[in-house]
Amino acid sequence: MDPIPGEALTSCRMCGSTALTQVLDLGAQAACDNFPPADDPQPDARWPLALTMCGACRLVQLDHVSPPEEVARAVESETLRRHAHEVTERILDRLDLPERPRVREFSSHHGGSWIGAWTARGAQEVTREADVVIDNQSIIHSETPDADLAERVAALADGGMLVIEFHHALRQLTGGQFDTVRHGHPLYFSLHSWSAACERHGLTVVDAWAEDVFGGCLLVAARRGGAPNDAVRQILDDEIDAGATTPQGYERLRELTASVRAELVRHLEDAKGAGHTVAAYGAGSKSCTLLGATGIGPDLLPYTADLSPAKHGRRIPGVGVPIVGPQDLVDRSPDEVVILTWDIADEVIAQLRRSGLETTFVVPLPHVRVVGSS
Ligand SMILES: [Zn+2]
Repeated sequence: MDPIPGEALTSCRMCGSTALTQVLDLGAQAACDNFPPADDPQPDARWPLALTMCGACRLVQLDHVSPPEEVARAVESETLRRHAHEVTERILDRLDLPERPRVREFSSHHGGSWIGAWTARGAQEVTREADVVIDNQSIIHSETPDADLAERVAALADGGMLVIEFHHALRQLTGGQFDTVRHGHPLYFSLHSWSAACERHGLTVVDAWAEDVFGGCLLVAARRGGAPNDAVRQILDDEIDAGATTPQGYERLRELTASVRAELVRHLEDAKGAGHTVAAYGAGSKSCTLLGATGIGPDLLPYTADLSPAKHGRRIPGVGVPIVGPQDLVDRSPDEVVILTWDIADEVIAQLRRSGLETTFVVPLPHVRVVGSS
């Protein structure tokens, strides 16, 4: 039976265990991919947004079924386009693969596609059995990941490698990245929970390493047979040390979330009190959760700029902050710009400076940090 939007979760999406413990509650939040016109008088629908951990496989996941996904309006960042080539290079260097591997990609509109980077290096794209099956930020968006993983495993040729990239739950936890929690992204894998899923499908995780996108991702390779290497064992140890495998360990995420929310509100109230003009940059999914869970609206952030023309004239759902184009931001030249897309803060700040915006930038995570004008 298909999952029903808004329904409370009763068992783990991956392993089916009913031993679920809530680890973070962000309240009722608007769906982060639905950007209504700025003047639309309709209230934005809200849905529960909270994380729960499975006591059996340790998978951290949303504790409700997400609302249906809307059309993507995002523009791929320069950072992500470069990443596709760099990560492909690392995978080809590091993993034991055939000379001209047959490759099949399961991608999503959130992570872009790596297939062009692979074929540019001599790989052959196939739609059936592949030497390398890539899951690029894809299965993490699924309400039925067990069936989806079975599909990926079935696509593996003999000796084939399943390669996945996902936002690492360890980084979410230690970096206080509560704004990466959003509707439509139900799964937040650690290496523990992904290894458990692979094992149930007859695969062993053989290698894993960190990738520096989206605030901290993990690249994981799994195959039939083989054994975990030292890097895998190290990351598993790091997860245990950080508390990423127990509900008690998530106390840290709750504390970091509360402190970032308080710091950001205080910072914006002080700026307003001092008579500074403030705006934001970014209207991605993270900004919906960050502002929504913090309760920051147009009184503290009058507008935000985003690269995607499809979002201009619209608003961030839930909090009603209007979205303008980057040139509009440059023209208005506020005293401060809060970078809501903190994971690509360097790219955004460099871009805005090139456009002639000389101002103070504020990066909200992992702690509110002021980056002076150049
Ligand atoms: Zn589970």
